[in-house]
Amino acid sequence: MAKLTSPDIMKQKNKKKVLKIIYTEKNIYRAKIAEMTHMSTQTVTNITKELLSEELIYEVTLEKKALGRNPMALSINESGMFVIGVEISVRSIRTILTDFSGKVILSTKKDIEKDINVIDILKESIEHMLNGFDYVDNIKGIGITVEGIVNADEGIVVKAVDLNLYNVNIKEELEYLGIPILLENDVNGTAIVEKYRYNKTKNFMLVKLDSGIGASFVLNDELLSSTNNVSGEFGHTRIYRNTDIKKCKCGRLGCLTTEASIGALKEKYQLDYETIKKEVENGNAEIRKHLIEIAKLTGQLLSNVIVLLDLDEIILTGRLINDFNSILYDEIKTEIQDNIPGWVSFRRLSVLDINDIKNVSTQLAIENYFR
Ligand SMILES: [Zn+2]
Repeated sequence: MAKLTSPDIMKQKNKKKVLKIIYTEKNIYRAKIAEMTHMSTQTVTNITKELLSEELIYEVTLEKKALGRNPMALSINESGMFVIGVEISVRSIRTILTDFSGKVILSTKKDIEKDINVIDILKESIEHMLNGFDYVDNIKGIGITVEGIVNADEGIVVKAVDLNLYNVNIKEELEYLGIPILLENDVNGTAIVEKYRYNKTKNFMLVKLDSGIGASFVLNDELLSSTNNVSGEFGHTRIYRNTDIKKCKCGRLGCLTTEASIGALKEKYQLDYETIKKEVENGNAEIRKHLIEIAKLTGQLLSNVIVLLDLDEIILTGRLINDFNSILYDEIKTEIQDNIPGWVSFRRLSVLDINDIKNVSTQLAIENYFR
């Protein structure tokens, strides 16, 4: 690639800025873009001319004037731009191809079996998408989320025990495709998408209660990133001190996740998750009592985090809160309310339905394209 000089870089940046505004505002006039970007109308006109010729945007008539020329608004060519998303969980690898409106065009899913080579499956799934698609040149990026510790800046999966991945540079592995790659931890990815798409409050924590427990922080509008990429390992805060405390996968005793995760429930009752759900539905008092206990402890721990970081909101997600919302939510909320002092501005404990967060990976790829 030819080296870009700084005016070129500036120009590219401005172009992306204009494109992103057209994407987020849907239909917008040039004058409004100039106002929002503080660019001159001439600059905006030049940029949009280029974007029109590249077919990334098109003109639309929003209002019909009786006399004279109708002002033309601009819209992004959502159905002509595409991204690939891959969601690597401990249970499956799901790959989808969507356009910029989020419409799914192709999708595949592969279950994680023993001795599976995740990288091979990843490459195969993406290549399968590319081979079956007529507009490969219009694919603007690939977003990948992984249940594990991720170094997003370098594109490395640092550690994903159940997937047998240790220090694997995914960006390098996929460089041959010639498409920009963005890799992120699944919970961080969800937090980023929440932050951009739904205009969340400035300081929030997203907690995923699922096979294990993960969390992400958005503080002062920025995703918290830490030295070892492990901030938000909420499941490994130690809380249990009683005599029969369990040993955690992390090697220590009494972490929250040893009782308050799907993995812990399965082990404790020696049942698969579907059966546990049925048992609770049918009124199994023992499991119900256990769920109430873990909700109380989770609420107590969360109230400490709220006080420490002055959080506005906590968003709960994951199968556990989805499936047992009626048992868990009120208990967690009550614990938080009872344990935070009046001078903390905490506003909301919300639940993000897992069915609403299916396409985090493609959203990340879109966000990355506009960066
Ligand atoms: Zn632990």
